[in-house]
Amino acid sequence: MAQAPPTTPGVVVGVDIGGTGTRLVAVDPSTRAVGERTTVATPRAGTPQELVDFLTAHVQRVSGGRRPLAVGVGASGPIDPDGTVRNPDTLPAFTGLPLRAVLSGLTPGPVVIDNDAVCAAVAEHAVGAAQGSPRSLHVTLGTGVGVCLLTGETPFRLHDGSHPEGGHIAVSVPTDPCYCGRRWCWEQGASRRALQRAAAAVLGRPPEDRGALSELAARAGRDDPVALGVYERYGEAVADGLGTLLALYGPATVVIGGSGSEHLEHYRRALERSLAAVRGWVPEHTVVGTRLDDHGGAIGAAHLALQGGVEAVRPRRRGAGSDGSTTADWGVSSARPAEGWSP
Ligand SMILES: [Zn+2]
Repeated sequence: MAQAPPTTPGVVVGVDIGGTGTRLVAVDPSTRAVGERTTVATPRAGTPQELVDFLTAHVQRVSGGRRPLAVGVGASGPIDPDGTVRNPDTLPAFTGLPLRAVLSGLTPGPVVIDNDAVCAAVAEHAVGAAQGSPRSLHVTLGTGVGVCLLTGETPFRLHDGSHPEGGHIAVSVPTDPCYCGRRWCWEQGASRRALQRAAAAVLGRPPEDRGALSELAARAGRDDPVALGVYERYGEAVADGLGTLLALYGPATVVIGGSGSEHLEHYRRALERSLAAVRGWVPEHTVVGTRLDDHGGAIGAAHLALQGGVEAVRPRRRGAGSDGSTTADWGVSSARPAEGWSP
């Protein structure tokens, strides 16, 4: 008697497109367990077709022959509500590419595109340091400063559904002028890049030398007063903008992520001391370092897709017919829920 062929369960794929690396994970939609994961170099250039081929190949590879039931994507910088990346500085090749339309050809389920800070925050709430927090603020200290506020698992949005660029807020400690237009901007003082440049300056190294950070940490471990001074000023710079966000939003949990979080032990005291100035009018909160590795953003992107997508950043319908059918810019039909798919 012939046996029915075994069914191949589907997966939800999370993709995190960073400036240098693109990370992908496959998540089991029932158990939420992370299966396959991979990291590949992000293309810096390419035709739209080459970028489509790149994404298609790696989504299929990480799916391991299983059906991608939904795809979530995180990318740095502004994301249009229609799912298009607008970040010519960090993601030049992908800027302007209608990612949602491209990827909806790979899955019958939802395709969710969001800012990488949102993905990191969702991952931290789902499986990391903010689990169970009623309101959590995720601050990514990397090349720039990314911020996302969650109430439960729901990200705070601007009225048009886009993600607020909370790293670009005015601060009271002088910084270099920012490309956002501010004279003194939090990102210019609190990014990991800012810490790196400060370390390089006192160590006599080139500004972009990442090795300066490990040497700074080693020196701080030996109580070198110059290194301790750099961390002291950095902690104050991080607190400068964070205090404003605490006063405005009152999160219960602050999670520090990005490569700047690797140095938290060195600037935590300065950070806490500076934040004491606002303690009188903000609720009790904890500041913790991330518990996730480099694939946290991809895991968060998969969880956003598991949530069924965030309605506010679903595609703006172009040429929608009376039956609600849509066609995106590239002529690719928008995604339809897969039969049997459940978030
Ligand atoms: Zn700025």
